[in-house]
Amino acid sequence: MGREGIWLKGDFHLHSRHSSDSSHNPVEKIIGFAEAHGFDYLAITDHDVHVAGDVAGHTWADPAYRSEKLLLFYGAELTAPRGHANILSAEPYNHQRVFDHRNARDWDLLTLKRDLGIHWSANHPVTSNHYGFSFDIADSIEIWNTSVWPKNAANVRVWDNMLLSGRMIGARGGSDAHHGLPEDPADATPWTPEATANYVGTPTTWVFAAERTKTAILAALCAGRACICANPYNPRVALVADADGDGTMEMMMGDNAPATGRPVQFEIRLSEGGIAGAAYQAHIIKNRQPFATVAIDPQTRIARFSDIPAQDATSYYRVEIDGPQAIYADIPYSMAQSAQKVALSNPLYFNYDPDF
Ligand SMILES: [Zn+2]
Ligand SMILES: [Zn+2]
Repeated sequence: MGREGIWLKGDFHLHSRHSSDSSHNPVEKIIGFAEAHGFDYLAITDHDVHVAGDVAGHTWADPAYRSEKLLLFYGAELTAPRGHANILSAEPYNHQRVFDHRNARDWDLLTLKRDLGIHWSANHPVTSNHYGFSFDIADSIEIWNTSVWPKNAANVRVWDNMLLSGRMIGARGGSDAHHGLPEDPADATPWTPEATANYVGTPTTWVFAAERTKTAILAALCAGRACICANPYNPRVALVADADGDGTMEMMMGDNAPATGRPVQFEIRLSEGGIAGAAYQAHIIKNRQPFATVAIDPQTRIARFSDIPAQDATSYYRVEIDGPQAIYADIPYSMAQSAQKVALSNPLYFNYDPDF
């Protein structure tokens, strides 16, 4: 299996002025901000119900929806009575058909999804507009919605439940940002304080894509080759393992290996941003349960652990990194909202059925 690829960072869930519950957030403001902060990709996922399904005639048709620097997805937030899902695609697709079938049976939506070749991502599973569709449709799940960490623990629990049931489903974040700063402070709305507390990249989803294309990003997200960071200046976390005992860490997040009955060496690696010398803790979760907490070495930015995955059952391991938030100067109130949660990995899997 090839390991060539590139880590790319972005945000899969944003609202522009084409969502009627947004404020001071034209497309050009979002894209300009993302370009200035070095993001690689972006999805503006406006509420389709606000334009009766015609996102192609609104967000996608906005002359500002273009960038020389960013990979911009075609997509929308399917906003249905039973919940929200983000539809993502590298190329334009018939979103009107998705919207018009939003109340259809899930098996019909699965067929429609396959017909259109779109990526279906479950949004904020347990908020008031929860994800009321089957997870068997979903290619990925939003486990961290907005900069506010504490309310997302319940979303992570839903994901853990799905993983424990034998499903391998890639996790992502999404800022779900709706509000920008007005040009004139006199035009502030009650929502304006949101603009400096939750915006592009709170949280940031990093994906390990085979190449710098939108198709490769969606494939990586689906495969769980991704991690989520509270903001783009935090350390990126990777969980790797040596499952075959040859001394090489050949497993990366999203991989599935047979359990041999021998000990497996795991490694947690921080890279990119973060605060030099800071104390980061890694909480290891195995099969939905806390497994261990280990300190990341501040010099090497690595922590190690080992375990023997059961030969007669499925196992998964994932990590959450706690510590101080890196400064996100343009979104200064996001740091307190994210509390101690710095980053989350996707899992490593053992004995999972790839044909589940
Ligand atoms: Zn939503
Ligand atoms: Zn949304």
